[in-house]
Amino acid sequence: MDEKFKQIAKLFQKLPGVGPRQAVRFVLALLDKPDSEIEELGYAISNLKRDISFCSQCFNISDSQVCSVCANPSRDRTKLLVVEKVTDLDSIEKTGLYRGLYHVLGGAINPLDNILPNNLRITELNRRIDESAGQFTELILAMNPNTPGETTALYLKSQFADKPGLSITRLGRGLASGSHLEYADESTLKHALEFRK
Ligand SMILES: [Zn+2]
Repeated sequence: MDEKFKQIAKLFQKLPGVGPRQAVRFVLALLDKPDSEIEELGYAISNLKRDISFCSQCFNISDSQVCSVCANPSRDRTKLLVVEKVTDLDSIEKTGLYRGLYHVLGGAINPLDNILPNNLRITELNRRIDESAGQFTELILAMNPNTPGETTALYLKSQFADKPGLSITRLGRGLASGSHLEYADESTLKHALEFRK
């Protein structure tokens, strides 16, 4: 295989879930596209960080300073649900069952991948709770039911246990251990939301 080809395939392998064979398929598929489409993709990727930004309050993806969830006056501002990723937030929004606010951590604690508490938006979460001056009465931990998710939930529980007037709950049963929130079907998520503990 050509060196340049290998180099481009390696870049695709940096994406989550993309192995060497799939990376090669991506490069081959791109080679079949007209120049204009490849240029459009290249342009979109190189401007990604400038064009797409995060909500200053919850870190949801947003093209304005405050996302549509945070800006919505009908949301329940006493509940704060903590997720690992924006895709988890999307899955929960799709159920239509949760009417509170969110906080996106940006991942889960995983020392094997060098992801430690200070790599996540935990300081921001702490500040948000403190600055809200008792606005939040429930902090719902909606981490993935796997080892990094469990570690993160336990860490957050210990960090926020002594906040006055704040009860800490977790998504309830129904979520299979080792699974991912973003792939859970709607009825499973509804059940987990209703039966939080
Ligand atoms: Zn927001």
